[in-house]
Amino acid sequence: MTLLEVRGLTVTYPGGVAAVRGVDLSLEAGRKLGVAGESGCGKSTLALSLLRLLPAGTRVGGEILLDGEDVLTMRWGRVRAVRWAGASIVFQGAMHSLNPVHRVGDQIAEPVLLHGRATAAAARRRTGELLEQVGLPAARARAYPHELSGGQRQRVMIAMALACAPRLVIADEPTTALDVMIQAQILRLIGQLVSEQDLALIMISHDLAVLADTCDRLAVMYAGRVVEEGAAREVYEGALHPYAQALSAAFPRIGDPASRFAPRGLAGDPPDPASLPAGCAFHPRCPVALDVCAVEDQPLRAAGPGRRAACVHVGAAVPPPAGPERDVRSTT
Ligand code: ADP
Ligand code: MG
Repeated sequence: MTLLEVRGLTVTYPGGVAAVRGVDLSLEAGRKLGVAGESGCGKSTLALSLLRLLPAGTRVGGEILLDGEDVLTMRWGRVRAVRWAGASIVFQGAMHSLNPVHRVGDQIAEPVLLHGRATAAAARRRTGELLEQVGLPAARARAYPHELSGGQRQRVMIAMALACAPRLVIADEPTTALDVMIQAQILRLIGQLVSEQDLALIMISHDLAVLADTCDRLAVMYAGRVVEEGAAREVYEGALHPYAQALSAAFPRIGDPASRFAPRGLAGDPPDPASLPAGCAFHPRCPVALDVCAVEDQPLRAAGPGRRAACVHVGAAVPPPAGPERDVRSTT
């Protein structure tokens, strides 16, 4: 059953910043979708739009159907009910999301109480259960955020996200602020909890290897669009779009410090969404761009079962880009 269906989503921040430019995605109940792409490609904007968390003055177009109901046209009361209870978000940098003056247990219990699911005593019990699920002793409920390590705080954030048993969890670079060993643990924990509880997950990361490990499907975003989408392993091991190829070459292994670096073989940065290049937004960095790419953007095209890519070479033979990224791939 389809839990989330995003159709033709566009998000433009004040000042004409076209951060998301026509995204279509769907997610079945209980499945896991990874969203990858360099910083600035619109991943967080997509995540925030799903729960109407974008700043005032932002223009949003298209449809976001959660269980068939359009989030974009819901009344505010309904949006509030959906947050936490229907879908919840784990943000990066938990340190800044927790209130420093309240005990973490009270912060976990808050959404449980707010959504009228429990009495105070039941909420306390649930808080203890949730802490144990995320691998912390129930007694840590009495701790203040500063008494916990970064990894423990991120576990608390995950407990909060699970508190009201949402059907969808959105994890936006949930481990970016943590060291690499803890990162792998936390990502595995999220994947495991989501599987055990049969929740759907959208996991956002710049690290394709981590996503390929955790998710069923992968969408690669560039300059506000999905440029490739398919089964996670297929996209990671045999990317079709040159951008997805560069991303998968950049991140050889989960937990490898090299995963901090930019995609190998790709010079420059993603374009500023306020001044996008003509044609395919990736063409200035593309190792296999043709003349046509500077004038014509490519739509996502079918590229095998359950697989889509937006490249002029897809559908035709895809010439492998020459360069070091091939060597990296062949050694992993
Ligand atoms: P990602 O999560 O992939 O790094 P974001 O969704 O955060 O990307 O950002 C996409 C683009 O939108 C970036 O160019 C960013 O500078 C811009 N952006 C993000 N938030 C705002 C905002 N509140 N106002 C204007 N531009 C924004
Ligand atoms: Mg982001």
